[in-house]
Amino acid sequence: MTPTNQTCPICGTAFEKETRLTIHLEVEHRKSELATKLVHDAEFGDVASPHSLR
Ligand SMILES: [Zn+2]
Repeated sequence: MTPTNQTCPICGTAFEKETRLTIHLEVEHRKSELATKLVHDAEFGDVASPHSLR
């Protein structure tokens, strides 16, 4: 499987798995709603991230 690269839209930190990004958002930024949205968007393959150039 191809690794899923997720990037935090707030601080730009990259994660190999979207689950780690979700935890990062909840723990570091207290943005559980945003994390849920990111995962939701990822399911549709349309993640609106300004740092997704890689
Ligand atoms: Zn972050």
